[in-house]
Amino acid sequence: MGRTGNHAVVIGASIGGLCAARVLSDVYDRVTVYERDELPEGPANRAAVPQGRHVHLLMARGAQEFESHFPGLLDGMVADGVPILENRPDCIHFGAAGHVLGTQHTLQDEFTAYVPSRPQLEWQIRRRVQAIENVDIVRANVTEPTYDAGRQQVTGVLLDDGAVVSADLVIDATGRGTRLPVWLEKWGYQRPREDTVDVGIAYSSQRVQVPDGLLAEKVVVAGASDAQPVGVGMLFYEDGVWNVTTFGVGKVEPPQNFAQMCDLADEILPAHVADALRRGTPVGEVAFHKYPTSRWRRYDKLDRFPAGILPFGDAVVSFNPTYGQGMTMTSLQAGHLKRALQSDDLVGTFTTATAKSTFPVWTMNAIGDLTLHRASGPAPRWYKPVGNLFDQFLGAAETDPVLAEWFLRRFSLLDSLYMVPSARLVGRTVRHNMRLWLAEKRTAKQPVAALR
Ligand SMILES: Cc1cc2nc3c(=O)[nH]c(=O)nc-3n(C[C@H](O)[C@H](O)[C@H](O)COP(=O)(O)OP(=O)(O)OC[C@H]3O[C@@H](n4cnc5c(N)ncnc54)[C@H](O)[C@@H]3O)c2cc1C
Repeated sequence: MGRTGNHAVVIGASIGGLCAARVLSDVYDRVTVYERDELPEGPANRAAVPQGRHVHLLMARGAQEFESHFPGLLDGMVADGVPILENRPDCIHFGAAGHVLGTQHTLQDEFTAYVPSRPQLEWQIRRRVQAIENVDIVRANVTEPTYDAGRQQVTGVLLDDGAVVSADLVIDATGRGTRLPVWLEKWGYQRPREDTVDVGIAYSSQRVQVPDGLLAEKVVVAGASDAQPVGVGMLFYEDGVWNVTTFGVGKVEPPQNFAQMCDLADEILPAHVADALRRGTPVGEVAFHKYPTSRWRRYDKLDRFPAGILPFGDAVVSFNPTYGQGMTMTSLQAGHLKRALQSDDLVGTFTTATAKSTFPVWTMNAIGDLTLHRASGPAPRWYKPVGNLFDQFLGAAETDPVLAEWFLRRFSLLDSLYMVPSARLVGRTVRHNMRLWLAEKRTAKQPVAALR
């Protein structure tokens, strides 16, 4: 049964709130988005989204999902200068958990990705939402939702100027700092269980103007590993400036200034990339950000939940940012919301679908974090062997382009959200590693004179 309504309110006009508003606008007569932050007239950073100053990777899957909600978005971004990656693997240098994937000139399947800065993507989405006739984006701080205990229903929101706005549905898209668990408790419900992984991540980012012609790449990633608890992500954005984010995992501090960033690049990036960076000119100041804990609020596990309100985006789950998944997973939630609005059980349908898409991604992240990235949190015994197997897989993917391409596509959340190789791929990994091992043994056995 379809749902129709008069007025929906969204709290928060970041990527999550804007996607929710787009979906709601098809169903509700009016949608009002309340945002406490000043919204710039263009692609610019804003105070309430401090993460926007750091590298944001838009996964290929996320680009597809956003396009499905905002047709024309991708072409529009390209027209505004956003770089695009097509089947040209020299656009990407990709290192994960200490392995560099051998994707050079080997991608077989269609692979298209877009590289907008975070402020650019939010701006592109926001201006499309602003153009929707029945949506208003209003600057206001929401103090809390209003709740009718008799009907066990949220009835609207209270703004901090004292105004009460009634609504048939309120979406909480206030990000990882959401107060919904507190409000639930106040209204006599249980707080959701929180699954957490203490990742202890610290970011430092510097925009850098690199002289033309030095880099063919548009995306350079060298993830952290157990042996090397610092990593780098470099993205070439629409303004022709590289955003260089360095990060430490497991409470290890990343470089604090540009000189230290260049030193790290010498250690973990290809020589031509490190050299290009050294020849670059820093633009603006270094930005810092701490991200101590990944958090999944398990609304899907609650027995009772009030009608008239839904949590959305990072308010439900905030993923380790070094894997670049948050915006894409939010775009998937928009699809879940669209389907849930057509069902009889809005809350149940949405929270179950969100839990289903979150589970594989959350679990794979947790395995990587807890076995390779010095994180702490509950780790079932099977995490370690799976982590070791995956390390073997990535080792083979360094020189086997088929495995590398499979990893790149799954990492981009294309094909499936599950990072589980088929039996055929596992067999290929074992055979590949066996061949490498035998070749190494043969080389070691040769007399030293023969090697000269
Ligand atoms: C350091 C870092 C790096 C990241 N890198 C990536 C990446 O590479 N790729 C990726 O896909 N994702 C990345 N993410 C995640 C991504 O930023 C989020 O998933 C994305 O912003 C969606 O979040 P959201 O809209 O749910 O919440 P947020 O972006 O946190 O926005 C919440 C909004 O709600 C508003 N708000 C809050 N309370 C109120 C109130 N009471 N009244 C009115 N308004 C309110 C805030 O002002 C804000 O605008 C990263 C995150 C971090 C922290």
